[in-house]
Order: sequence, then structure tokens, then C-alpha cells
Amino acid sequence: MNNKMILNNGQIIYPSYMSNEDKNKLKTFIANRNNVMYCGCKADVPDEEKLYYRLSADNKFIPLHKGYKHAVGCDRSSEKRSSAFITLDSSDDYIATYLRFNPLNFTPPVKQRKLAQEDENTNSNNEVISKGKKIKEPFLNLENLIRCINIDAYMERLIGKGIVLSRDYFLNAIKGRIKKVKVVGMDKSLGSLNYENDWCTFFYCKFIDLSKNEKGYWNLTLENNGKTFRIGIREEIAEKQIEKFQKAYCGDLPYSDKSVMAAGFIYKRISKKMKEYYTVGRLHLFKTTYNEGVYCCDNVEKELYEIIFNYIKHRNTQARLYIPVEYTNYNCEIVTKKDRGKIYVGSPKYTSEEKAFNYSGENATIEQLVKFIDSLLV
Ligand SMILES: [Zn+2]
Repeated sequence: MNNKMILNNGQIIYPSYMSNEDKNKLKTFIANRNNVMYCGCKADVPDEEKLYYRLSADNKFIPLHKGYKHAVGCDRSSEKRSSAFITLDSSDDYIATYLRFNPLNFTPPVKQRKLAQEDENTNSNNEVISKGKKIKEPFLNLENLIRCINIDAYMERLIGKGIVLSRDYFLNAIKGRIKKVKVVGMDKSLGSLNYENDWCTFFYCKFIDLSKNEKGYWNLTLENNGKTFRIGIREEIAEKQIEKFQKAYCGDLPYSDKSVMAAGFIYKRISKKMKEYYTVGRLHLFKTTYNEGVYCCDNVEKELYEIIFNYIKHRNTQARLYIPVEYTNYNCEIVTKKDRGKIYVGSPKYTSEEKAFNYSGENATIEQLVKFIDSLLV
């Protein structure tokens, strides 16, 4: 997702998180002046090469002249899709998401292991060749889809409302966002999938348990709106997900942490005796920050985000934690009224002249991180 706009005064705006009210304010700011707002993909070019936009009477972002050439990687470019999770220019629109798998398809159990592996093989950074067009475009697997939904909902709250909510409030924000996520090729949102028509639903819940009962059947226990419920899951899917969780989080088990969430797809099936039953066909288990519920890929990221959230809460409420919706070469960015600085772990893919901090090795201490964030506030 790469769709920023920049104003002449340097202010960055995010059209995909803007309500109509926000756009009216922006329109007043722009008034009748031209060349005030330009696409964020060409921020560093001379003014005459910038791609300027205006707001129409019905609050659409309209380019000011023809023959546009957006930078590679810009969501507004029509040449090549560089994102698999696209929201453009309105918080009211649907989010178009390109998936590596078909959520409606539940492959027969014997093929399940193969299916689970296929889902794994691509993330948003990997590019696959789409048939016919012969151009490389990204697709999301289940894990990346869920991360995108979580971070996108977080960024929407942060930019739209300026506040980070408690874990429970945030869970509702995510559920709202799920209603807007549309899989390309499907004519409905993830949130509107239902057993009656689609034979499957999408879930995003608090994880309680994943274990085998005395009869040898595996069950996934979830909590939704304070109520717990249990659904059957095939052994190979359950074991595979526990294994993946341990791999991502330094050997930790999903039961060990109260911040663990579960998301995926539940399918309605019919047994040979014509009985309906429900089974978890696709599952992803992941850790989130303790107070806010923000997705964490690994334990280092969880530690990093939690320190930053505590910094904001207890040391300086002016700082904001921006997290990129799709994977990039940095983990997050601290934005203050005066400055901004990126934080990454290990080595970024390319170096830039922006202020950046590497949270690893000797630098991976609370003190070093606080010093860096403090430096952005002076
Ligand atoms: Zn652009």
C-alpha cells in the first residue's frame, strides 16, 4: 500500500484513511490554488515533474494534467500492480486484496498438507508471474493478509482518530475493517462470507487453546465477544500451525502468551451420514502487543513495539508509531511534529539518507531506543 499525498508545506496525508469530513477540510485548505498537493511517489523531483492533484466537488482525487507517469511501486500507477492490498483515496471504499489462494475453496483433506504449503510459499515481497500478462505482481498468503488487515486497521485509527485504542476496542476496529476487505475475483467482502451461501466464514478472534481431546480429535478454542467456542481442526493443520508459531516466536507455544490471536477460515462440510459439521481449514496464530493488539511478526518486533507504546504513554504523547501495512525494509517509523525516523532490525535492503535506527546488537536496549526517539522531538 503506497498511496500518500504530500502538500506543499511538507505535510503528508493518507487519502485512504480520510473521511468525507477530512476531505472537506483539505479542500478548504487547498481552496482554489493549483499545485498544492502531489502524489507521494514523486516527492524528490523538481516541482515541474511532480504529479499534482486536486479534490473534485464530490471529493475524488483528480490529477491536474494528463500524461502522468507515477514512480514504480506507486499504487496510482496503472502500469504494474506493486501492492496486494490496495486502498485508494477514501476510507469509505473497499480495500482490494490479491490473494495467493481461493478462500472459498476447501481442498479435500488428503490434499490439505500440500495446500497449506502452497499458501506459505508467497508473501507480499515475493513476486509471482501472473499467467498471460507476463508481469510480476504481488499476492498475499494468509499470514500476510491477516497482518495487512491488522496493521491497516491500526493505521486507520492512528491517522483518522489520532489515538491508539485498547485491545478490545481495536478488535472491533479490525472487525469493521474486515467488512471492507474484498478479495479480487470474489464479489463480496471477507466480513460478509457466510455458511449459508459461501459455506465458509472468516474469523479473527482471541486464541484460547489448540489441543487434542481424549478421543484423539483436535479442537481450536477461540473467544469472541467474551464467549468461548470450539471448532474441530484436522490434526495436520493444527500441528503445522503450532510448529510455525514456534518457529516464528523463538520456540514459544501459543498457550504461553495472553496476546496470541487466531485468524483464518472455517468451512461448513457434510459427512457421509449427511450431517453438517464445521472445520477450521485455514489458520494463522500470531502474537500481538499486549495492550493494543498490534500484530508482531516475531518476539523482537513485539518487544520493540511495546517499548515504543510505553514511551508514548509515559514519556511523550507527541510521538506516534507508524507501521507500514505491507512489508518493507524497515519495521516502523516514529513520527513527531518536528521530525520522523525509521527503525529497523538487522540490515535494511537499501540505505537512505533518512534518519534511521537499527534496533539490534548493542543498540537493542531501551536506553538506546529512547535516545533515538528523544532526538526526533528536540
Ligand atoms: Zn504516484
